[in-house]
Amino acid sequence: MTSPASTQDYPAVKVTVLGSGTSMGVPVIGCKCKVCTSTDPRNTRLRSSIKLTIGERTILVDCGVDMRHQLLRRPIDHLDAVLITHTHADHLHGLDDLRAFCYFQRQCMPIYTTRPFIEDINVRFAYAFNPPQMGGGVPLLDLIEITPGQTADIAGVPVTPLQIMHGRLPILGFRFGPFAYLTDCSAIPDETAELLAGVDTIILSALREKEHPTHFNIAQATEAAEKLGVKKAYLIHMAHDVDHAETEARLPDWVRLAYDGLDLEFEATQGAGTTGAPGASEAAGDA
Ligand SMILES: [Zn+2]
Ligand SMILES: [Zn+2]
Ligand SMILES: [Zn+2]
Repeated sequence: MTSPASTQDYPAVKVTVLGSGTSMGVPVIGCKCKVCTSTDPRNTRLRSSIKLTIGERTILVDCGVDMRHQLLRRPIDHLDAVLITHTHADHLHGLDDLRAFCYFQRQCMPIYTTRPFIEDINVRFAYAFNPPQMGGGVPLLDLIEITPGQTADIAGVPVTPLQIMHGRLPILGFRFGPFAYLTDCSAIPDETAELLAGVDTIILSALREKEHPTHFNIAQATEAAEKLGVKKAYLIHMAHDVDHAETEARLPDWVRLAYDGLDLEFEATQGAGTTGAPGASEAAGDA
């Protein structure tokens, strides 16, 4: 295990929540419930994903079925790498739409994940690696293995992959200096909690109020964040049972619900004690 991509000497980080919903998204097709028919834009949730700008680099965490729509909503002109937490459809199945970046950037897109998920991607997107004929549009993907606990160089940026549990499935979370992103989480192993020491702000998943076998509920996520000692937690991957305003009103001030379009910013930190604790600020989101 290497030392985590810590809060000391880390470039400025900008995070945009591209989607904050569970696997079916919110509204759920055909559902007439209060949240699915709500006029509060924070109750409209595309599939969970974030975009990070770290120094000059742009990194996407997950690439679900809404990726194309998300990046038309919040355009980027360059993408350096994609990190995949796990291979459930809501986190992976937009991979084909990376073709646009391959085309304009004239390069393969580096995709970072663990060995078992690389094998899944090879099967699921077999056509991209063995195209049936020349000339068909396929994404050019460069699958690169990363290991939980081993800080990796992602496009020149140090990122620590973290093992978390999604039911019985080990998946990845990530630490980027003062910020960490853990989605589809139902347990945080002790070794991972150690690697999260000193994190200022976390985005952590919470499906709904009721318990679930493979996801934290809101109470469990709040408790886990409290145990980690973070200053601020944003919950993500919410189902249509969760009304944004009503739920937030019941939560402590330091726990908020993420929403599509939420922007967070972290200042660069240089050396312990010179700039003090990294300050997080919430930029005006466009929901
Ligand atoms: Zn998911
Ligand atoms: Zn509904
Ligand atoms: Zn999942």
